[in-house]
Amino acid sequence: MPMPSSEIITIGDEILYGQTLDTNSKWMAFELDKIGVKVLQITSIADEEEAILNTIKVAEQRVGIILITGGLGPTKDDITKKTIAKYFDSKLKINKKALADVTTFFKQRGKELTELNRQQAAIPGSCKPITNNIGTAPGMWFEKGEKIFVSMPGVPYEMKEMMSQYVLPILKNKFNHSAIYHKIVHTVGIGESFLSEKISEWQDQLPANIGLAWLPTLGTVRLRLTAIGQDEALLKEQTEAEIGKVKHIISKYIFGYDDDTLEKVVGALLRDQNKTIAVAESCTGGYLAHQFTSVAGSSDYFIGSIVAYHNDIKIKELDVKPVSIDMHGVVSEQVVIEMAEGIKKKFQTRIGLSSSGIAGPTGGTHDKPVGTVWIACADERGTVTKKLMLGNDTQAGLPARLSGGQARYKPSQWQAGWTNSSGREKNIKLAAIAALNLVRQRLIENG
Ligand code: ATP
Repeated sequence: MPMPSSEIITIGDEILYGQTLDTNSKWMAFELDKIGVKVLQITSIADEEEAILNTIKVAEQRVGIILITGGLGPTKDDITKKTIAKYFDSKLKINKKALADVTTFFKQRGKELTELNRQQAAIPGSCKPITNNIGTAPGMWFEKGEKIFVSMPGVPYEMKEMMSQYVLPILKNKFNHSAIYHKIVHTVGIGESFLSEKISEWQDQLPANIGLAWLPTLGTVRLRLTAIGQDEALLKEQTEAEIGKVKHIISKYIFGYDDDTLEKVVGALLRDQNKTIAVAESCTGGYLAHQFTSVAGSSDYFIGSIVAYHNDIKIKELDVKPVSIDMHGVVSEQVVIEMAEGIKKKFQTRIGLSSSGIAGPTGGTHDKPVGTVWIACADERGTVTKKLMLGNDTQAGLPARLSGGQARYKPSQWQAGWTNSSGREKNIKLAAIAALNLVRQRLIENG
């Protein structure tokens, strides 16, 4: 049987008041996509009978799988269970399995089962209970003709456990006779719109069974290819062939695949080329060192760093010339060159990396606005630099632009990693990503 499409309905006044962000849908849609279930619509509604009944009715006409979260608790405002019972014209009655589950839950925690908790085992007679291993409200699985309805608690970790242990495996077994193959291509140094222009022809010629999802994050864009067919080995071959084609077009921007991160990739290149690195950081304030050391085994190549925030430290510890600061300013190409060469010499490494800039939100001038950052990478072949103009985003996630028309970010890039960053934090992270990419490019040219 082919996999039907699905809809997600999240129930809860708190979502509509703006108190709770609907992260359940995001997670569920991502996991459903992995097993080839297309999500056609996501709807958030109030804890109100009419809204629940109407939304389920409309969804039932549209899709084959309806996944619902929220409102299953024992309190009066949690009306999902009795409303769904009404939808299926089914009476609530104590289910033996659900009662055993909830009794065990309280027993294991040394607590008595109250009548309110006992009532959690009362579910519509027409459904199968889904065990809640980490909470008290059972999930409910209904089948009506060929349609499937699943109701789960709103608490994200309870929903995730039920989805992972029960719902996803069952859906996969029930429908997915076809094979699926995913591969993620990671790019850096180019914004989504520029990338889109470069690869639009390639995208247009992709076979009908290969889907492409654009997943921009802070400073990087991921392209996820999903191939659906009958034979996984063939799908893999087909996907790799398409990746081979896109590599010809954008190879310099591709830094890795699947679980790769920029810091891991740079670390692997350093290890392969038997090179060491040290970092002199001003505006990134230690974040670059953190990125390097977040990779297990980085002591093989990462020697250390100096956070040379104050000019005196740049001069005393890194041999930056006072005249360079006076003539060019501390945020300048000359100063980052001296910082990178200074740290390389001081720590006796093969590579020295540096940053100096104005992270914001204050400190900018007409000539050097907030977001102006210089980075430099010194190695045996000389020192290369790059100027970044990252902007002064007082609101997290607003566009940032790398200089020289290199990359531009669109509002659609308000994605993972953006929304929780202040403009300052975002500039620090973008500067670190650009610095890591500068080293990566240098190592690739050398390698
Ligand atoms: P329980 O029986 O554990 O109370 P429940 O089904 O009644 O589960 P809700 O009362 O709807 O769950 O929600 C409990 C909490 O879970 C909410 O206060 C909120 O913090 C979180 N939550 C609910 N829905 C969502 C959602 N869609 N995305 C993220 N968090 C959610």
